[in-house]
Amino acid sequence: MSYAFEPTITSIPIEGSSQKFPVRRVYCVGRNYVEHAIEMGHSEREAPFFFTKPADALVVNPESINYPSMTKELHHEVELVVAVGKDGAEINSENAWGYVFGYALGIDLTKRDLQADFKSKSRPWDLAKGFDQSAPISSIIPFKELGKLKEGSIELSVNNELRQQGNINQMIWSIPEVIAELSKHIELKAGDLIFTGTPSGVGEISRADNMEVYFKGKKYLNLTLKQYEK
Ligand code: MN
Repeated sequence: MSYAFEPTITSIPIEGSSQKFPVRRVYCVGRNYVEHAIEMGHSEREAPFFFTKPADALVVNPESINYPSMTKELHHEVELVVAVGKDGAEINSENAWGYVFGYALGIDLTKRDLQADFKSKSRPWDLAKGFDQSAPISSIIPFKELGKLKEGSIELSVNNELRQQGNINQMIWSIPEVIAELSKHIELKAGDLIFTGTPSGVGEISRADNMEVYFKGKKYLNLTLKQYEK
């Protein structure tokens, strides 16, 4: 057996290891921080929901990315990402930590104008979220390094100006609860990533802007939007 052409396998380096994490699926949680839900015009009590991005929308530790087509309002959403290391369906939240392989820091880039247009027409907004290079991500930090994450400052700055500043203890649904909820819908498998939602302060980025992402004071991403059209 051979493939008609080379299959695409997205993989992410694992800190302190020569192995790479092979990505299967990318799930994202919507509105998982109260302040962000409010800034998007929703009540703080609304339960989070899920959407997906294609695995090859990930860009690992990029120094620069292209400004995408079909938008004039590109937004940053900094997020803690959970890397799943074990298969499981209908996972109980008490057991959910056992499914965490590690963590990464990511940006859920969003074409906010296109998303608003799709929403207004009750159309799916996949292409406002799952476009090429829409998910910059750091290397994976193994679970043993950070343990059961229940708190930790998460920040994104644009051109050295702090734009998003939150703490993962502000999540409406905790990491074990997100894993439990998502695994009601689908069987999670080793290789899955979960973007766990963004704190408030989302905003626009323009060509040539630089973004830096910090978790617990340590820098994990530093990338620039390319200045010119590709
Ligand atoms: Mn998001």
